[in-house]
Amino acid sequence: MKSYIVGNWKMNFTVGESSVYLHKLSARVHAYRDIEVVVAPSFISLQPLSLQLDRKKIRLAAQTANARDFGAYTGEVSMAQLRGIVDYCIIGHSERRQLFHETDKCVRSAVAAALRNQIRPILCVGETETERTFGETCDVLRDQVLGGFSEVSTEDLEKVIVAYEPVWAISTTSGAKIAGPDDVAEAVKFIRRIIAVAYGKEISEKVAVLYGGSVSPANAGAYLTVPGVNGLLVGGASLIADKFIDIIETAKRVKS
Ligand code: PEP
Repeated sequence: MKSYIVGNWKMNFTVGESSVYLHKLSARVHAYRDIEVVVAPSFISLQPLSLQLDRKKIRLAAQTANARDFGAYTGEVSMAQLRGIVDYCIIGHSERRQLFHETDKCVRSAVAAALRNQIRPILCVGETETERTFGETCDVLRDQVLGGFSEVSTEDLEKVIVAYEPVWAISTTSGAKIAGPDDVAEAVKFIRRIIAVAYGKEISEKVAVLYGGSVSPANAGAYLTVPGVNGLLVGGASLIADKFIDIIETAKRVKS
């Protein structure tokens, strides 16, 4: 299976800065057969970057999108509008769930809308610190994974990418709360088991599962060698092109 290295730029970079970054990235990465390099800029940068982009090397993702196709939804951008511009869309990121009150129903509809518009969903799942403390991790992962997959047709199941992002390990600067490779291995194994029970073992082995949470050039290799991990969703470290390139090069080394 391919590995996916996805950079989530969140609400950073102007259009000009995004373009300069992409230029640098394009000059340093190659067209890898077994690694998909994806960046997720702000909505306003997607269209200009899609014209600048060499899709053999780098693909674009949106950071979220509305599940409805068109209509009176002021300020929203739909999957239908993103069709042909992005290849991926991050859905249900913990910041969307927590800060913008996205419900499981929004997430479920967005996954279906993405697929309907030829966009591959990157479905983010993960427990908060409180949920982990109260031993609810498995319940949370089961609800989020099954919820996200619930409107997906059988033939589209393997197009969904799951990103396991324990909320307590996202954007930690002190390094005190980093998920260990064993934590990640256990969660990823559990996610595949949920998919296997619901949709069969064959599908569970075809669905790509990424890890995200304070990934850096220093720890990327350790996460990429966790059994069952097919790539990384990178936030903070993806804002510095050199660090992101380092992580891509690590993925290349791990692959070979
Ligand atoms: C994220 O927000 O998806 C993420 C993984 O962020 P960071 O790498 O900064 O923890």
